[in-house]
Amino acid sequence: RLDPEVLDAMMPLLTEHFGNPGSSHSGGRPVAKAVHAARRAVADRFGLEPSEIVFLASATEADNLALRGVITACEGPRHLITTAVEHPAVLDVARALESEGLCSLTVLGVDRDGQLSLDALRKAIRPGDTKLVSIMGANNETGVLFPIPEIASIVHDAGALLHVDAVQLIGKVPPEWTRWPVDLFSLSAHKFHGPKGSGLMTAPKHVKLNPMVVGGGQERGLRSGTENPAGIVGISKALELALDHSAEALPPMAARRDRLAEGLRAQVEGLVVTGAGAARNANTLHVTIAGVEAEPILVNLDREGIAVSAGSACSSGALKASHVLEAMGLPKDRIHGVLRLSLSRETTDADIDRVLEVLPPIVQRVRNLG
Ligand code: PLP
Repeated sequence: RLDPEVLDAMMPLLTEHFGNPGSSHSGGRPVAKAVHAARRAVADRFGLEPSEIVFLASATEADNLALRGVITACEGPRHLITTAVEHPAVLDVARALESEGLCSLTVLGVDRDGQLSLDALRKAIRPGDTKLVSIMGANNETGVLFPIPEIASIVHDAGALLHVDAVQLIGKVPPEWTRWPVDLFSLSAHKFHGPKGSGLMTAPKHVKLNPMVVGGGQERGLRSGTENPAGIVGISKALELALDHSAEALPPMAARRDRLAEGLRAQVEGLVVTGAGAARNANTLHVTIAGVEAEPILVNLDREGIAVSAGSACSSGALKASHVLEAMGLPKDRIHGVLRLSLSRETTDADIDRVLEVLPPIVQRVRNLG
């Protein structure tokens, strides 16, 4: 949820300072100042100049801009590499670019734990032709982490650029990731206690990018349209809090996640933690339960006031098999009994106790009915 400190930072931009930051009159000046301060604060965290931060409306927009912006701005052969477990905001753009004839595409598979083979990445790179590699920091369904610093050195040695969708890294791994040698990062504020409708991309000057939205030339010409000052100040404040809180918030979050996993494993027959053999972020617990469907479990949990999804929030409405689990080669009897339990820095021990009390009998009831 929105952190009250983030809301406090946003309020003046929604009330007394309502001017357009692009206006030179006195109504616009304080707004422009607030937007600039937010841009500088974000840039400092990434070791960039303020002009190297592009504020957008979502991570989806950032992912689209990163892939389409780089690929269409490249000269010569254009080869793009990504992975089979990316969010659709990356995978669908990659496939669209390929089908529009704008690039050739390699989609790397993962192993049973959701991990990537760095050798496979090395082999897939075509030096000179591979212009961009887009690999997420942490998977949004399983929390599995990819070794981005190692990936960055492989990609850069081959002269290509690296884009990292960092939506599931921020606030969920230690804050040093902002200094990894990555060319383009994507973020979405609502994933770290900021407002919905506010995202950003890091866009260092050495990366040639074509804009997708043209017009008034805002955001260094990379994203025209009047800025969203409250959203910009909100994402900046949320970023500050997420990075500053990580050191003290992550160890208890990971411990609660592990206690939840152990408690569920002990009580629910046939429950397996997905990606258990891989490094994972601190907040995501993805499990499969043999021989049950997720939907009745989700409905019963919801009645108890516990909000859980079956994979990603966007595909859980349809409850279709997840492309991530398919890529991991999960057996068919497990691909439908999936639950993703997410923690935040606000999750308490009492929340964990309650899930441990409520979830096992629900699974039992659903099994008995089935
Ligand atoms: N990338 C990842 C890894 C995500 O988890 C999400 C959303 O869940 C997105 C991109 C898209 O974010 P948004 O819906 O804010 O555009």
